[in-house]
Amino acid sequence: MKKITFFLLALLFTHNAFCWGFYAHEKINYLAVFLLPPEMIGFYKKHIEYLKAHATDPDKRRYAIPEEAPRHFIDINHYGNYPYSSLPRIYDSAVVKFSKDTIQTYGIVPWWIQVMKGRLIKALKEKNGMQILKASAEIGHYIGDAHVPLHACKNHNGQYTNQHGIHGFWESRIPELLAESEFDFWMDKADYIEKPLTFMWDRVMESAAAADTVLQQEKKLSDQFPSDKKYAFEMRKGMLIRQYSSAYTQAYNKSLQDMVERRMRQSIYAVASFWYTAWVEAGQPDLTQLINPSFSEDEKYEMELLEKEWRSGKIKGRSCE
Ligand SMILES: [Zn+2]
Repeated sequence: MKKITFFLLALLFTHNAFCWGFYAHEKINYLAVFLLPPEMIGFYKKHIEYLKAHATDPDKRRYAIPEEAPRHFIDINHYGNYPYSSLPRIYDSAVVKFSKDTIQTYGIVPWWIQVMKGRLIKALKEKNGMQILKASAEIGHYIGDAHVPLHACKNHNGQYTNQHGIHGFWESRIPELLAESEFDFWMDKADYIEKPLTFMWDRVMESAAAADTVLQQEKKLSDQFPSDKKYAFEMRKGMLIRQYSSAYTQAYNKSLQDMVERRMRQSIYAVASFWYTAWVEAGQPDLTQLINPSFSEDEKYEMELLEKEWRSGKIKGRSCE
């Protein structure tokens, strides 16, 4: 009976695995606030809980609309070998060369971040407090995803190499186990980004270059590690579930030589820098007037719907599970 209960719990709690994991996305948005300049930090700090809670809305939206999934990744090795020069870095040129269908199928994350930046600039120009928060929370999500190596690789969940689950292992299990106790988040302030598209492509290329290491190190470790110690029933959010054991997680993180910590730090810096850059490009609006923004009825309805679709549990398009 006990075994059955464990099994059911394991099924239940491995069901919703997300890009960077909810924990890491929330942490990235939260910590990005502290890198902002004095003119921005008051408003962002006041609404830090919103920015944290809504860091995961784009993943929830993947349960509501099929167009959402490709915004979170780019399978860049579909386009040949590093440095993938056959793929134009400008969206329109890429569509002309490969067709919109192909570009959508293999992911659009670096371009989608520019769309989100446009939305954030618009909200800032209009001094629309709620839209500023919404766009800030959501661009933070996509920037985070672009820093994850397996978001820039066709073999995104080890499905071609018998490493199913590696996606969540890298981006959820490691940060959840180690971020609080071992990662250093003491960081420099946000910077103005001169060329945001080039900046994002550089991050994506780093992710793509790291994807092989992510896969190979796990394979190597899995061959050496006692197979009965690889998984364990351990507590997660107060529940006992079957997952990669702490020992295996520690060993994998060590073999990656702080890669997860480094990519998380770079995500935080990039998110803060994109917020700051959008604010500068919007003409540096005075945010002190926006202290108590609130959602319209339509916006509230949209948020409720998002939550409902997500809880229904039917993902549209690619899943990271
Ligand atoms: Zn995502």
